[in-house]
Amino acid sequence: MTSGSFPPPQPSATAGTALSAFEGTGQTAGLLADRLLPTAAEALDRRSADRADPEFLGQLVRQPGTLAVLYSQRRAAHDGGHLAFLPARSLPAEWLEGLVVYLGRLPQERTTAHAAPGSDIVLVVLDEPVEPVSAVMSEPAGEGAGLLPEETNWAGFRESGPGLDLVEAGILLEATAIANWHASHPRCPRCGAPTQVIQSGWVRQCPEDGSEHFPRTDPAIIVTVVGPGDRVLLATGARMRSTMFSTLAGFVEPGESLEQAVAREVLEEVGVRVTECQYLGSQPWPFPASLMLGFTARTLDEVAEPDGTEVLRARWFTRDELAAAAGSGEIDLPSRLSISRALIERWFGGPITALEAAAQ
Ligand SMILES: [Zn+2]
Repeated sequence: MTSGSFPPPQPSATAGTALSAFEGTGQTAGLLADRLLPTAAEALDRRSADRADPEFLGQLVRQPGTLAVLYSQRRAAHDGGHLAFLPARSLPAEWLEGLVVYLGRLPQERTTAHAAPGSDIVLVVLDEPVEPVSAVMSEPAGEGAGLLPEETNWAGFRESGPGLDLVEAGILLEATAIANWHASHPRCPRCGAPTQVIQSGWVRQCPEDGSEHFPRTDPAIIVTVVGPGDRVLLATGARMRSTMFSTLAGFVEPGESLEQAVAREVLEEVGVRVTECQYLGSQPWPFPASLMLGFTARTLDEVAEPDGTEVLRARWFTRDELAAAAGSGEIDLPSRLSISRALIERWFGGPITALEAAAQ
């Protein structure tokens, strides 16, 4: 495959980044248990049957207790480093006449500190980010500006993710994914007519031919390759900085199984033939629309040869070698927000953060 279709690189690590909210949750993300990935236990109830009702969303946004997350130009409104949850019914009518999507209901038992348990959450997509009144100063404040806390700032998952709790992280990933899809799929793929949003934001329908179009997610595999001596194979992608070593990854092609995609990508990128392929867990990565499917695979090959286009360097590490290289600052590892880091640390047997922090 070409480098242009490669999934966007996952964020690089800031050594010593505190991600305490992601640690020790005791929840499961497939076999990447106890790791940072937003998981089933933290998921919103998306109320699929309810949201199909044409009246559902219009009624919901007028009810007390319904909370809105604002999103614009790939960023969400935050307040003090957390998602800003605003009472939906206090929003300007013109905002609610634009793109509004039902995201789901917060769980009762485990929730974010920043919204009441059981709250319904809607996504309100704005053309332009709105600044709070205090930040507008001499310019006339836009409608709704007075609703926003003074500390409001607009940020994407890569910027704010480290400070979010699991519930907020899941909400922001869902919001990002569905907003990206709407932004890139305004027209009917059959006839080109502008489509209309139905089912509380989860379907677009063509007014000309009645066809319905559903949000799209692009599966991509990501894999730790483990070779002779229990060494792991990490690589530097063409779009990564030269010190970064990460897992191999690539999109699943039409007509291909996940296992075939793993074998093909690893062979294409580093010339290594993998045998056993085990699924470990997944992570939504909506930049713009990927779902990362994490695997580990084994190989008997000793030699890895980068293809020189997608992968520039490939290197085997023992655990001691990886600890030393990361600890000395010789190499960088992927961010703890990423499934690639979770995969590496599963092979490693524990967190590597302490080693990086010690190198500072
Ligand atoms: Zn059409």
